[in-house]
Amino acid sequence: MATASKSETEFPGPGPANAAGAARLRVNEIFYSLQGESRTVGLPTVFVRLSGCPLRCGYCDTKYAFQGGEWMSLEDISVRVARYRPRYVTVTGGEPLAQRPSTALLERLCDAGYEVSLETSGALDISAVDKRVSVVMDIKTPGSGEEARNIYANMAHIDANDQIKFVICDRTDYEWSRTKLHDLGLPGRCEILFSPSHGAVTPTELADWILADHLPVRMQVQLHKLLWGDSPGH
Ligand code: SF4
Repeated sequence: MATASKSETEFPGPGPANAAGAARLRVNEIFYSLQGESRTVGLPTVFVRLSGCPLRCGYCDTKYAFQGGEWMSLEDISVRVARYRPRYVTVTGGEPLAQRPSTALLERLCDAGYEVSLETSGALDISAVDKRVSVVMDIKTPGSGEEARNIYANMAHIDANDQIKFVICDRTDYEWSRTKLHDLGLPGRCEILFSPSHGAVTPTELADWILADHLPVRMQVQLHKLLWGDSPGH
């Protein structure tokens, strides 16, 4: 089991404080769109995409978020989010937890009354995440190239409000994920999401495998890719 070391993350620390000493985060983009995945798929949602990720999954479609972005205070992020008057807010990346103040942002968004979710790789410790947040945590399959980064100790913090996601690249990944479901005792414990890796497995193939095995999982396709392709801002 490997963990992300500080040297592997682009923005591992608290980030430079602003003149008032407030924590800041490196933000790649903030946008309003339809949720493309997860239990709230199709619902209008504000996305806060933080910059940086210590992983390099083969299928990554947000490489543009590995570097760059703008330093913003938690207050400035909150103001930008509020402009959209959303019910749902998703903090995503990159890997949001690679920037330590992300947990304070999540708490602040919950306090503001939003239904907040966090998309995380499963390679960083989630124990400090506010329990009001629905954690959408990957378990990295062999096909991702990052299987060794899974921190299975995170499972101790997963409950019915959370969602575990497997991105399936081929039949081997599917069978590996099917085994993990049961090894980790996931059915009945949290939402389980199976997604076909775009361009690697067809949605139809994955759907047929799930039905043949009567798996208790939610099959999902990436709605935002059907609507807008890979363009940022969606
Ligand atoms: S964890 Fe997510 S953002 Fe990071 S490389 Fe993998 S797919 Fe991309």
